[in-house]
Amino acid sequence: MAKYRRILLKLSGESLAAESKQGISVERLQQYAQQIKDASQGGVEIGIVIGGGNIFRGLQGAGKGFDRVKGDQMGMCATVINSLALSSALDALGQPNRVLTAVRMEPIGEFYSKRKAVEALRRGEVVIMSGGTGCPYFTTDTGSALRGIEIEADVMLKGTRVDGVFTADPERDPEATMFTDITYQEVLARSLRVMDVTATALCMQNNLPIHVFNMDVYGNLARVLRGEPIGTLVHL
Ligand code: UDP
Repeated sequence: MAKYRRILLKLSGESLAAESKQGISVERLQQYAQQIKDASQGGVEIGIVIGGGNIFRGLQGAGKGFDRVKGDQMGMCATVINSLALSSALDALGQPNRVLTAVRMEPIGEFYSKRKAVEALRRGEVVIMSGGTGCPYFTTDTGSALRGIEIEADVMLKGTRVDGVFTADPERDPEATMFTDITYQEVLARSLRVMDVTATALCMQNNLPIHVFNMDVYGNLARVLRGEPIGTLVHL
């Protein structure tokens, strides 16, 4: 019996690139797709938001002379590319799924609406909500907070390449320790970089818990769904 009935799974674009940090690792994609299929076949309704950092980030582009709004639009397109890649990997496993886009771009994906997303979830399809919020100056963390709240998910599962939320960056500080749970307020007060402030505030205001875990360890998605004590829960 899964702990959560309906989830919003946030995957970072960078994780999709695996070690190379750029582009898409086919191996990583297949690992993600298999874990997502297993969870879906177990009866969990799964909405997904993927980032685009493995391809393009608007803010980085702005530093190199790109127009910020156009750069963010490029970033949003990058999330669509990643979403199509995941969709294709799920297709290959025979897992029903659909890609919705935050801005109109048929026939690449259907224009997002809550109704479409929820109907597909109820039918057992994995729903990949691409294009972030559709607006510049936001991130896919904020996009996933927004979509998670809209589809009335029980939790946002934030799949990262570290084990949870730490006192400091565990990849830089060997002294960093991990929280098993923490409040949104404390995340904000300590400036912990779980998600950006906008995304954290949106989750806090709408009481959407965030479960941060290491998605790159195969089987961890199932472990979180079974309620095993891994990762960090961010809550009210
Ligand atoms: N982006 C945006 N609006 C959104 C979501 C994303 O403008 O609602 C752009 C922004 O430029 C961002 C890029 O898309 O840098 C990729 O998303 P993100 O950085 O969140 O990807 P991740 O870090 O999760 O791979």
